[in-house]
Amino acid sequence: MISKLPKWAADLTEKTGSIMSDMKILEAVYISPAIKKIRFQGNITRMNFQIGYANVIRVSDTEFRNYTASYHNVREGILDIIFHIHGNGAGSRYIDKLQPDDELRISIPRGKKMYDETRRQQFIFGDETSLGLACSILPILKKNKHPYQFYFELDDENQGVPELLGLENYTVFPKKNLFRNEQWVSELPVFNTGEWNSANFILTGNVKSVQTFRKKLKDRSSVNISSQGYWLEGKKGL
Ligand SMILES: Cc1cc2nc3c(=O)[nH]c(=O)nc-3n(C[C@H](O)[C@H](O)[C@H](O)COP(=O)(O)OP(=O)(O)OC[C@H]3O[C@@H](n4cnc5c(N)ncnc54)[C@H](O)[C@@H]3O)c2cc1C
Repeated sequence: MISKLPKWAADLTEKTGSIMSDMKILEAVYISPAIKKIRFQGNITRMNFQIGYANVIRVSDTEFRNYTASYHNVREGILDIIFHIHGNGAGSRYIDKLQPDDELRISIPRGKKMYDETRRQQFIFGDETSLGLACSILPILKKNKHPYQFYFELDDENQGVPELLGLENYTVFPKKNLFRNEQWVSELPVFNTGEWNSANFILTGNVKSVQTFRKKLKDRSSVNISSQGYWLEGKKGL
């Protein structure tokens, strides 16, 4: 779905029952001042959840944004999303205001599948916008006994969030443009042990960080790369 539409088209899209479901907010908590987790409830029986898929939410008269379900339970009609409240855009401002009992429509998930179950090792890189994907894939990684590792680049105020979300096997890096520095990236342990030579690499988050990481991985023909930039400075609604 495109991120910006004329108001009449956005109204029509939001009313389209085949792609949008009525949801109500059961719970909204701030894991840190900039990370908000919301539990939605509604009929999600038509939703097909895949790792990497995103749900779309209308955040203004004319704009839609992508967000990842971090947890879902079809029987209970529950869907959780972890939002980065970065304060720079319409989506962030809209989500910040949401509170229990608010009602809104959320689209069925769709997008790019990122999990390749045929690869034993799974390596996941991202930032605040990737925490939902990380939470959704963790139970699968454990159930299927994959060796796995998460790398997160996070603002200082969010460094404790992976632990609070119950994530495991993660390394947190400060979000200080380190992942734009090709030399620094190529010296990371992941590039210097043989362990991840045939892994599936799931790269999401900031577009420039994803591009740098991907560039360094491309020298290795044996790895599988699933990547999607989730946001870019100066660009609205990726
Ligand atoms: C498939 C997919 C799944 C996603 N899942 C999630 C998710 O689960 N949770 C989540 O929070 N986001 C997620 N995102 C990212 C989210 O859609 C973008 O961050 C989006 O730009 C937010 O919209 P906005 O209106 O707040 O900002 P926009 O209006 O889109 O952007 C305005 C400005 O804000 C800045 N900006 C945008 N995002 C960020 C950010 N994260 N940090 C700092 N500055 C930013 C940019 O400079 C941009 O120019 C996902 C994106 C994709 C494509």
